[in-house]
Amino acid sequence: MTDRQFETKLLHQPDFIDKQTGAVNVPLHYSSTFHQESINEFGPFDYSRSGNPTRQALENTIAELENGAQGFAFASGMAAISSAFMLLEAGDHVLVSKDVYGGTFRVITQVLTQFNIDHTFIDMTDLNETARSVQPNTKVIYVETPSNPCLNITDIEGVAKVAKAHGCLTFVDNTFMTPLLQKPLDLGADLVLHSATKFLSGHSDVVAGLAVAKNEELGARLKFVQNSFGSILGVQDCWLLLRGMKTLSVRLNQSSQSATQIAQYLHHHQVIEEVYYPGFSFHDGYPIHKRQATGPGAVLSFRLPDKKCAEIFVDKLKIPVFAVSLGAVESILSYPATMSHAAMPVEEREKRGITDGLLRLSVGLENVDDLLTDIQQALVAVEQHVPKALA
Ligand SMILES: *Cc1c(COP(=O)(O)O)cnc(C)c1O
Repeated sequence: MTDRQFETKLLHQPDFIDKQTGAVNVPLHYSSTFHQESINEFGPFDYSRSGNPTRQALENTIAELENGAQGFAFASGMAAISSAFMLLEAGDHVLVSKDVYGGTFRVITQVLTQFNIDHTFIDMTDLNETARSVQPNTKVIYVETPSNPCLNITDIEGVAKVAKAHGCLTFVDNTFMTPLLQKPLDLGADLVLHSATKFLSGHSDVVAGLAVAKNEELGARLKFVQNSFGSILGVQDCWLLLRGMKTLSVRLNQSSQSATQIAQYLHHHQVIEEVYYPGFSFHDGYPIHKRQATGPGAVLSFRLPDKKCAEIFVDKLKIPVFAVSLGAVESILSYPATMSHAAMPVEEREKRGITDGLLRLSVGLENVDDLLTDIQQALVAVEQHVPKALA
C-alpha cells in the first residue's frame, strides 16, 4: 500500500471492508469478551481492553498513516500522552517544549512529579539549548510543533538527532498537523501522539487519543501500558473516528486555505498587534516548518491590545463557536488564558506569550468570505474601543 498517496490511504485500508459481509464500513464490535475454541486454542481477541476488532481497525489505520509499526487508541489525547509517559520510571527526566498544551503541562508538573519523574521546560526552537539541557537521566524529549497557542516551530529532525545522541526517545504531539501535513516518525521521532478529538475526528463529536510507535519494540512496551493502565477508546468512538478520518484531507486542506486568507487579513489590520501563523514567510520558524510539513494548518492566534478588546471581539463575532477545542468543521474561537491554558499559572502563561489579549482561531469549513465579513465587523467594534488605532 506504500505506493499509494495519502488521500487514497485515508479511504482504502485492508480493515475497511468486512471480511464476513462485504460491508464497506468497519462493524461495531460491541463485545467485551470473545469465545475461545478450546483451552489450547485462543483466537486473535480475548478481552476488549486488550484488543477489539473495531479498535484494531483504527489502530492499524493510524499506524499506516503515520508510517509507524503499531498504533494505539486511547480514551482521550491526555490518556494517550499520560500512557506514553508511563514508559518512564521513577528517577527519569523529560525535556519539554515550554509552550506545550495546558493539559500536558498539568500532567508533567502535577502527576509525573508524584512518581519522581522530573522535567525541564525549555525553548525547543533552540537546538543548542535543547542539547545543553539533556541530563544523564533524561529519557524523553517531548515536542509539540507547531506549539499551542503561539505556533512556534521546532525542528523535529534536529531534536530527534539530539535525542538519539543521548539515548533518549523523541515524542511528538502531532495534533495540529496530523499525518496529512507532517509525519514525525519519518523525521526520526520514536512516538507520535494525537488528540484525535481535533482534526482527525473533525466534527466536535468525539474525545479520543491516538499514539503510533515507530518500531515494534517500543510498540510492545506501549501495548503493555495500554493493556495495564486500561484507558482504551470505546468502540463507538473508534467508529466515529474512523469515519471522520476519511475526510481529513479535504477538510484540513480547505480549512488551511481559509486560515491563510484570514491570517493575511488580520496581519494587515491596524488593531491587531500580532498574528501567529506558520504559513507566513516572515514567521521565525517558516523555513523549518516548510521543510518538515506540507502545509501551514488551520490554527492561528492573534493578539489584541488588551482583555477588554478580546471581550468585545468575542462578544461581536457571530459565526465561530466560542469554545475550547479546535480542528472541527465549524470554526472555533478560543481564549487561551482562561480556556486551554487555564491549568497554567499566570506567570508561566505570560512567559509563553499567552497574554490577556490573545485569541486562537481554528478555521472550519464555512465560506471564507462569511468568516472575513464577520471578523471585519467585530474588529470595527474593537476599534471603537481603541480609537488611537484609527489614527
Ligand atoms: C486537545 C489537545 C490535547 C489533549 O487532548 P484531549 O483529547 O483533549 O485529551 C493534547 N495536545 C494538543 C496539542 C491538544 O490540542
